[in-house]
Amino acid sequence: MRYVSTRGQAPILSFDEAMLTGLARDGGLYVPEAVPTLSQGDIAALAGLPYEEVAFRVMRPFIGDAFSDDDLAGCIERSYQGFGHEARAPLVQLGPNHFLLELFHGPTLAFKDFAMQLIGQLFQLALSRSGQRVTIVGATSGDTGSAAIEAFRGQGNVDVFILYPHGRVSEVQRRQMTTPSETNVHALAVHGDFDDCQAAVKDMFNDFTFRDEVGLAGVNSINWARVLAQVVYYFTAATALGAPHRTVSFTVPTGNFGDIFAGYIARVMGLPIDQLVVATNQNDILHRCLTNGEYRTSGVTPTISPSMDIQVSSNFERVLFDVYDRDGAAVAQLMEELKTKGGFKLSQGALGRLRETFASGRASEAETAATIKAMHHQTGEVLCPHSAVGVRVAGAHLGATPMVTLATAHPAKFPDAVEAATGGRPPLPNRMADLYERPERLTEVANDLSAIETLIRERRTH
Ligand SMILES: *Cc1c(COP(=O)(O)O)cnc(C)c1O
Repeated sequence: MRYVSTRGQAPILSFDEAMLTGLARDGGLYVPEAVPTLSQGDIAALAGLPYEEVAFRVMRPFIGDAFSDDDLAGCIERSYQGFGHEARAPLVQLGPNHFLLELFHGPTLAFKDFAMQLIGQLFQLALSRSGQRVTIVGATSGDTGSAAIEAFRGQGNVDVFILYPHGRVSEVQRRQMTTPSETNVHALAVHGDFDDCQAAVKDMFNDFTFRDEVGLAGVNSINWARVLAQVVYYFTAATALGAPHRTVSFTVPTGNFGDIFAGYIARVMGLPIDQLVVATNQNDILHRCLTNGEYRTSGVTPTISPSMDIQVSSNFERVLFDVYDRDGAAVAQLMEELKTKGGFKLSQGALGRLRETFASGRASEAETAATIKAMHHQTGEVLCPHSAVGVRVAGAHLGATPMVTLATAHPAKFPDAVEAATGGRPPLPNRMADLYERPERLTEVANDLSAIETLIRERRTH
């Protein structure tokens, strides 16, 4: 299995190389040269299997000979042991033909754990084989950082630096990043917003001297292995609802287009998905783009769903690569326009192809809060604000096809917004009830590339 860059100018890599590399050296993102497919029979056989077994069967064809069957199975087994639910990704019903896929039972209470726990295991195996050490640098709007720290804390051959926007993450998110005591963990509070953090990470990858000096590795959803791990739960959910004999739709609360891109890959693999509905908060670049064909950034507005306060959706580049017939030069040109002019217009052909798969909608702050309240009242389910954006947008797309909305975080991660809507404060699960008592450790840093690079050079433990 070979991986190519969306901009067509970087070396072709194997699965493990693409995983350890993160961003391609031409600034693009790695994607499989050809997406493997599963037959109807293969998909039918997944119904009712344990999550780990489905994960193995779905991911195996993407991995080639980078990991043996036993190694992969072992990594998957260890990845999901710490989850608080036997099903890993349980489905609950919200209303007629509307289901919620709860992805928040992992160690840091957001869907990011599904992928991060697995790449933590895969990195450890790959690095111990090669004797390499790496410096992981990640940008977070809150949940990626806590999931990455949880997955890599204490690993001997890894330092993990997480850049988060100072003052713009929830207290639970911050504490999950600042309370681990392992010396290989470094939480950096950047004076800027999430897009600044993400841009700094991308700039570090494009600073080849720095990149090679520290052995930079990336675990943002620019990393293909993250996307792959998220493909799995589309299969468990759809087969539970009757796929491949029945078609299923999904609504996905989106910021960086990572989670929904995993659904797109599941569809390309042969899973009968009708619609993939992009659900945004008022930072709605993706909804606007699917509506009028123009991908144009405007400032980020803070919302009660902070993990989606994003205006530059990294993984959108991966789907552009497909709708531009895998023409790397065309994608590179669009990304250049984005950088220099703040946006670009899609060709009619590309927009038409996007709309064959994707629909979209946006939820305002008031609609999000009202949805948390209504769902609590009608079903007893307490939604986090991100999941509520999804449920609200899904409401406009319900019909004869079963709809699955992804619940991306546990309500206790955003207790203020939930309390404001329902009047009740959602408690943390017992296993992390002492989070508010643990001492915090963080470093504030200016939104300045060289200041951040200097800090990373100084703090690395190797
Ligand atoms: C990361 C995150 C999202 C957005 O996911 P993308 O892959 O960036 O689209 C939505 N909700 C929560 C809770 C998240 O942590």
